[in-house]
Amino acid sequence: MNNIPEIFGSLVFDDKAMKARLKEETYNTLIRTIHDGKTLDTDIKNEVAQAMKDWAIEKGATHYTHWFQPLTGVTAEKHDSFITPDGNGSIIMDFSGKELIKGEPDASSFPSGGLRATFEARGYTAWDPTSYAFIKDDTLCIPTAFCSYGGESLDKKTPLLRSMEVINKQALRILRLFGNTDATRVITTVGPEQEYFLIDKQMYEKREDLKFCDRTLFGAPAPKGQEKDDHYFGTIKPRVMAFMKELDKELWKLGVLAKTEHNEAAPAQHELAPIFTQTNIATDHNQLIMELMKKIADKHGLKCLLHEKPFAGVNGSGKHNNWSLSTNTGENLLNPGNTPEKNAQFLLLLSAVIKAVDKYQDLLRVTVSSAGNDLRLGGNEAPPAIISMFLGDELSEIIDSIINDTSYDRKDADKMKIGAKVLPTFFKDTTDRNRTSPLAFTGNKFEFRMLGSSFSISDPNIVLNTTVAEVLDEFATRLENAEDFKAERKALIKETLTNHSRIIFDGNNYSDEWVIEAEKRGLLNLKTTVDALPTIIEKKNIELFTKYKIFTEKELYSRYEIMLDEYSKTVELEALTMLEMAKKDIIPAIIRYSGDLSSIALDKKSLSKKISTLVEEKCVENLSAISEMLYNTCEKLDTAVKNAKSSDCSRTEAELCKDIIIPLMNILRQYADEAELIVSKEYWPFPTYGDLLFSI
Ligand code: ADP
Ligand code: MG
Repeated sequence: MNNIPEIFGSLVFDDKAMKARLKEETYNTLIRTIHDGKTLDTDIKNEVAQAMKDWAIEKGATHYTHWFQPLTGVTAEKHDSFITPDGNGSIIMDFSGKELIKGEPDASSFPSGGLRATFEARGYTAWDPTSYAFIKDDTLCIPTAFCSYGGESLDKKTPLLRSMEVINKQALRILRLFGNTDATRVITTVGPEQEYFLIDKQMYEKREDLKFCDRTLFGAPAPKGQEKDDHYFGTIKPRVMAFMKELDKELWKLGVLAKTEHNEAAPAQHELAPIFTQTNIATDHNQLIMELMKKIADKHGLKCLLHEKPFAGVNGSGKHNNWSLSTNTGENLLNPGNTPEKNAQFLLLLSAVIKAVDKYQDLLRVTVSSAGNDLRLGGNEAPPAIISMFLGDELSEIIDSIINDTSYDRKDADKMKIGAKVLPTFFKDTTDRNRTSPLAFTGNKFEFRMLGSSFSISDPNIVLNTTVAEVLDEFATRLENAEDFKAERKALIKETLTNHSRIIFDGNNYSDEWVIEAEKRGLLNLKTTVDALPTIIEKKNIELFTKYKIFTEKELYSRYEIMLDEYSKTVELEALTMLEMAKKDIIPAIIRYSGDLSSIALDKKSLSKKISTLVEEKCVENLSAISEMLYNTCEKLDTAVKNAKSSDCSRTEAELCKDIIIPLMNILRQYADEAELIVSKEYWPFPTYGDLLFSI
């Protein structure tokens, strides 16, 4: 493929397409909204709609859709064709400005957490001009925000855009204090690294757990796992390579900056990293990446699993949210420069992030909570449920010197010595990597590593943006009123670092000692989703979000309800799927195998009393005991699911899922996996871990 620059963005109505097709004045109006965040003048809607439609039809589109991100975490679209009767029995291809800026999908099938009364089932979608329209499946997709009839947001995009506005405003105040008059806008940037599994489609089709729940609910470990570490960055298999190539190409057409594709630590696990971009665009793009991964895998006879923990005992999948702040003049505000100890603006911003993370640990924890991610966080493969920050040796020493009023001695920059003269020397990244940290400073950005692979990246970024904005607001107010800016600034940095350094931890986050140490420091350890979710409606958090108009109190309660409900529904579906598989496949397979073994034993005995039937008898004995336990556990699980479902309080239902259903599911699985190791392969009703993980 040598025409990449040509195909890149070819399916996007981007700056280039707009410039070519709109009147200069219209183009400038739009650009002011896109780049400077100015309110859109809707007079231009008809012209933009017309140009968009002509462009889309030239590219083969026949339909258009308002593309939005409801609270399900995936994207939604409702397709309408461009055809309109012309009044003379024929049709014309039409698309009006009104259709561009506003849609009215029926909101009743999307979660609203009680925000939408039945008599107002209508919802509205509103054009988001800051994210370019694009063509997917011959459909012009118009990125939109989604809200209820009463104006409450029902999506993941609206609050994200609000949070970007808030941090822009507060960060600019700080820049002005430092004499920066050039920058007119501060944006947050994100590069989300996406992990996923690829398995053979035929194997996938044979397992109900994968089909219904995107993860295996049963399965004894394969003899070979990831212990040999031979998969990470290993050679990519031809079938996977073909998939990755097509994925890259399709993403490039959509203007997604897909950059790196490689194998991950677990067998059958891979990663895609895009080049970072503005947060709202990165969020849209990450949704497109996940959607295309699934679609293109299918075309290649593969299935892409985005679940956080598809296989027990094998590393799960996460998403790393690399987050930074930058000006519209291109300056990365989290770049410490060569002498961070003298870079007061950087130190102030760094202290702000430290304070925000410490103060709102609970909210960050909430944004990475789900039944799927509960299986991964704290499992010695992903950060624990305790939020802490890693800054690296250099910054940690600088911070210590500020807190203790000691002088900081800069060591000579650490040049990498590889030993061979012909190799170029380069500077070692002084932040060095601590892979166990939930939130690591990596040179010029923060990498938030707790997200689950299937998540929308919207929520974590809403929280990062809003909480940092609040601290910047407080800093700016104090500094704007200071008589001596420099002295006040110095005092503020010292005070903030002193009060919040408990959140900084450079050691091993996987160790048991850290759990004890974190408790001593007073850090939160919200172990599961059910423990974490209620913090979203705590007073301090409601105050934060309502103060900056990110969420109303009503919206927060509705999101809390939706997340609880989502959790319970996931666990209940998994339990029901397990029951079905155990009762209809596993127990019958055990019975059949035991029956055949018994007849063989009888036949053998009838031949001669001297022939031993020890093996058959032992197997039948073991299996009989196991199937009885399986059966009993099924009964208990069945009752537990019915109990949970009949609860009329969503919190109680979620607690029942966590405390009763999940432990029973674990017991059921343990018996079934034991049986799998005894039953002959030809009797076992579905592909094993070995088949699933090593078949491509
Ligand atoms: P790694 O060594 O972990 O691969 P990279 O520097 O390649 O680190 O970055 C990983 C991800 O972080 C990429 O998606 C990259 O685009 C993103 N990233 C880099 N710089 C920034 C930034 N300033 N803001 C947001 N994301 C960034
Ligand atoms: Mg990373």
